[in-house]
Amino acid sequence: MTQDAIRINGLKKTYEGGKQALKGIDLSVPAGSIFGLLGPNGAGKSTLINILAGLVTKTHGKVQIWGWDQDENPRQSRAAIGVMPQELNLDPFFTPRGALEVQAGLYGVPKSQRRTADILEMVGLSDKAEAYARTLSGGMRRRLLLAKALVHHPQVLVLDEPTAGVDIELRQMLWRNVRRLNEERGMTIILTTHYLEEAEEMCDEIAIINHGELVAHDTKTNLLGQITAKTMVITPDSAPASLPDQPGITVEQRRDGTLAFTYNASDTSAEQVLDLAKTTGLTIRDVRTEQADLQEVFLSLTSSR
Ligand code: ADP
Ligand code: MG
Repeated sequence: MTQDAIRINGLKKTYEGGKQALKGIDLSVPAGSIFGLLGPNGAGKSTLINILAGLVTKTHGKVQIWGWDQDENPRQSRAAIGVMPQELNLDPFFTPRGALEVQAGLYGVPKSQRRTADILEMVGLSDKAEAYARTLSGGMRRRLLLAKALVHHPQVLVLDEPTAGVDIELRQMLWRNVRRLNEERGMTIILTTHYLEEAEEMCDEIAIINHGELVAHDTKTNLLGQITAKTMVITPDSAPASLPDQPGITVEQRRDGTLAFTYNASDTSAEQVLDLAKTTGLTIRDVRTEQADLQEVFLSLTSSR
């Protein structure tokens, strides 16, 4: 199946009061993928996700979920998506079992098709099935939110900062569950996180938004290709007459007289860079390397304004 799980066109959101949180986003999420939505605080990630969830109304644009247009087929598009929100909004007077039953009722899941016990088991809340939500720890509440997102068996699961501020054990449990849902049920997963290593480990595709605009969208492999950008800084004995030139290697003369050779480590070797420097007649006094990491690439894409 080469369908898009989500298709977004020209999506804009201006909140009451005038804050323009989304400035025209075009984005598709392939079915069956684990998709990472990254961006600094205030970028518009939750706004986008809450629009998908039907919790925030868009100002402009088109949203399709599992092929269903949100405006033309609101019921079907809503049934295709489950959202674990960033906020811990749980009714304190419900037990986990009660909360799941109510949620199933809201989505019109017939009693015979409810899998309440299985879902509680999956998120490790079986022994808390009858405890009041207000007595649950923060981690348990998060797991309950995940469980609630799953009651209507959605094709697309969206997790908004699921691991922000949770301990390592819960983080691992969440990721195990997410992987299983993706691998065993082919569920499409969209998650936001600001742990870049997490996105690197989990996601097939990554989109980065900043100030309500999409600044990057690519497969993880391609983004990691950017991340292998390396810089070798050479201090020459004397200033070169002209800068060396070779496809795949960018050379820049810095103010301190050093030459910065930037190249992609996946297709150019350090030796090729040194060779280029030598063939230009440079006498090398000193060499050091600067390595870009995911953090840097992320910052270079999001810190320009
Ligand atoms: P993120 O999830 O990427 O941190 P948000 O989508 O929560 O970003 O917020 C994007 C921008 O919209 C921020 O400037 C935020 O202050 C603003 N915003 C979010 N929710 C509201 C709201 N309900 N009313 C007004 N402004 C909001
Ligand atoms: Mg957010």
